[in-house]
Amino acid sequence: MSFLKIQRVSKSFSANVNVLEDFSLQISKGEVFSLIGESGSGKSTLLRIIAGKENRDSGEVILGEVRVQNPKEKLVPGYDEIQLVYQDYKLFPNSTVAENIARPLLEYDKDYRETRLNQLLKLLNLESMKDKLPRELSGGQQQKVAIGRALSLEPSIVLLDEPFSSLDTIQRRELIVELKEIFRELEMTVLFVTHDLDDALQMSDHLVIIQKGKIIQQGEAEGIFMKPKSMYAAKLFSHLN
Ligand code: ADP
Ligand code: MG
Repeated sequence: MSFLKIQRVSKSFSANVNVLEDFSLQISKGEVFSLIGESGSGKSTLLRIIAGKENRDSGEVILGEVRVQNPKEKLVPGYDEIQLVYQDYKLFPNSTVAENIARPLLEYDKDYRETRLNQLLKLLNLESMKDKLPRELSGGQQQKVAIGRALSLEPSIVLLDEPFSSLDTIQRRELIVELKEIFRELEMTVLFVTHDLDDALQMSDHLVIIQKGKIIQQGEAEGIFMKPKSMYAAKLFSHLN
């Protein structure tokens, strides 16, 4: 049973240029997919459409039983269910780690807020840093706080838009290993977008390769490695030979 269904979504910003063309993808609950494509291939646009932050020209996005509205339809207020984490996440510089994570919870009662915050600090292994300011943390820890903030509202899907680009390779590897474990524990459905094959493979065996707004291949990494269906897929994997 698919949880996220993207059905024949198309999008263009200008005539004759389709940023996404007839794009379809299905993800089951608790699955983690890595979506890889070069810069300009439509990755961010896709995530923004899934999150209901960008109008699509045609097609549908369905999460569980609910159709994601275009922003212009304005029928459903915000989508706490769907959390999008960008590469240039912004933490509040003068707020502590705990305050940053709990920020989306301000409208909830204090008991719930504290319980949820403590769960997240534990889950993210940030308990010892809860009173620190963002600038006192490493880049990887700051990104973990941003992801904690996204998780605070108990979303049912997390969309990660190249969130590790500003981190060095070692920090990136460590963070991905840690996040993978956290997502597994939460049985979170995740779509992780990147242009880096190593990052994609670290996060998930299930790869979706896109080029110019179209899926050119998807499946388990090993299958794609053995039988790439395009030059682009073959090239992506060539350095692993
Ligand atoms: P990626 O995230 O894979 O780098 P994007 O989804 O950001 O790709 O962009 C895909 C294409 O759509 C690019 O050619 C980009 O210039 C264009 N594009 C994205 N957003 C807009 C916008 N708001 N207005 C016009 N063109 C856009
Ligand atoms: Mg992008």
